[in-house]
Amino acid sequence: MTSIKKITFQNKIILELFPNVQKLLYSYRQIESCSFESGGILIGYENTRSRNFTVANATRPQPSDVRSRLAVQLKSGHYMTMKKLDSPYGYIGTWHTHPTQFPTPSDVDLADWKKCIQINCNTTSALIFIIVGIEGFRVWLCDSTTGYIYEGIAL
Ligand SMILES: [Zn+2]
Repeated sequence: MTSIKKITFQNKIILELFPNVQKLLYSYRQIESCSFESGGILIGYENTRSRNFTVANATRPQPSDVRSRLAVQLKSGHYMTMKKLDSPYGYIGTWHTHPTQFPTPSDVDLADWKKCIQINCNTTSALIFIIVGIEGFRVWLCDSTTGYIYEGIAL
């Protein structure tokens, strides 16, 4: 049985990743040599007292997404889902896949994450980004104020 996964960052923030999200990420791994990149939005909230993050849900790839072997662009479908969320749930970052064993963010990813932070405009103190590889996924936290990116370590 999958349980809540706890991930910590160098700035002491703890992230809780719900089992349904872990399963969703796992199901979109690019195992087949011809499979396309997938992506979606991470849904959750920041605990304003502890500054810890909870990712409770995520959107699946939408028909309108532009997907290829090495790239994915998230389109309006994801943002429509976001608008329907009840407080405290909201946009907390994004996830996407890479066709590699252990993924590393590309220059395009890093530029995109910086843009996400600017658009998010300090709505939360940070955003969470997940890249799903074939063997496993890696998690990063991008600080809204400093733009500094921390890699997550499983607790
Ligand atoms: Zn990428």
